Amino acid sequence: MKKRIALLLILAVFLLPLFTRRVKGDTPQVKENSDLVGVRYVLKRGDTVIDILRKSHIEKAVIDSVVKVFEENVDPKTIKVGEEIFIFTDKSFNFKKLEYRRNLADIYTIEFEENFKSKKKEIKKSVSVALIEGEVASNLYYTFKIRGERDELASTFAKVFEWQFDAYSEIQNGDRYTILVEKIFMDDKFYSYGKILYASFENRENLFEAFYYGNDSTGGYFDENGNSLSGTIMKAPLASYTRVSSKFTTKRFHPIMKKYLPHEAVDYSAPKGTVVFAAGDGIVIQKGFNAIGGRTIKIKHENGYVTEYCHLNKYAPSVKEGKFVKQGETIGFVGRTGYATGNHLHYAVSSNGKYINPLKMKFETSSFISEDAKTDYILYVDIVRSFILAAKSILNFPALSSKKDFIFKYSSPGEKNNI
Ligand SMILES: [Zn+2]
Repeated sequence: MKKRIALLLILAVFLLPLFTRRVKGDTPQVKENSDLVGVRYVLKRGDTVIDILRKSHIEKAVIDSVVKVFEENVDPKTIKVGEEIFIFTDKSFNFKKLEYRRNLADIYTIEFEENFKSKKKEIKKSVSVALIEGEVASNLYYTFKIRGERDELASTFAKVFEWQFDAYSEIQNGDRYTILVEKIFMDDKFYSYGKILYASFENRENLFEAFYYGNDSTGGYFDENGNSLSGTIMKAPLASYTRVSSKFTTKRFHPIMKKYLPHEAVDYSAPKGTVVFAAGDGIVIQKGFNAIGGRTIKIKHENGYVTEYCHLNKYAPSVKEGKFVKQGETIGFVGRTGYATGNHLHYAVSSNGKYINPLKMKFETSSFISEDAKTDYILYVDIVRSFILAAKSILNFPALSSKKDFIFKYSSPGEKNNI
């Protein structure tokens, strides 16, 4: 932990000279000899390397040699749909190079100079910290999309605050967000997001802040005082959903029963097969089919809470009555069994026998940062805030031409080429 604080201090102090800008879309040029012709194939179901080489009009004997070398290095059974193969030939279709890209980090090449050489490409990985801030526009996905960010950022952001509010349904135009997120680059090309190190969300009533603290196995999100942001029961216990199709109400018109009935649950509309999680640690007290709820699971938690999951398409094989499940464990998959007009999860929570609205649940947070570590944590919170303030003020530099999309790069003495 000390190391992390020291790193952040260095970051804060040396922020200005290390500041670099990244212009959107500046993908590195692939340096191939200009005499080569390259063709890209995206693997479809049933495609083999032989098929692809044949399409490139390469001689049969050469195809056999390339395939032999390829299969010595890559197990053909591990090739997946959507992966890419690039074939480079000279202008007379003589084979020069094959590049098999499993992803940006995992690339095998076979080259022909005087004989065939196969190697795994060395990819330079770098991690940057990006500050992204702005106002909510329409919905959460769109908000980040117009900033050039991927959908994963929206889902990761929502997850950080899943105990505080439902970021999919409870945000409004004009609410403000700030995110400090790791961005992982492979050969200078954006690969994926790392951790969200800090996030804040401000609406008319509240300011929510989340600081990531701890290492990969013990880390989590905390508020400024070191209280954990995780609660005991999740508000939306599924991997993703399209919308809330029915809210919690004591009176609603039921589309199938054609009469007013209470709906003391929340319906999350989601595609068939979407993963459903155990909303908290607990014991499975019911797993079975009933005419209304279809395939249903009930879990009993601490402090008198019971959660119910209805209309499941399937149960997870590991779920059994009387068995303990951990929060976030897969218990089933969204479906439309029982009385349901479409695929959705009917999610009900009761507290000591009385149904409560899952979206309105408030939980006491528990502190996971020990008293000994508190001093370090408070210092960490200060540093993160100073860092964000400094970064925001850089945006007002008159000389900065692009104020929209920028990244800080930190280079340690060992990595001279990282800037
Ligand atoms: Zn329902």
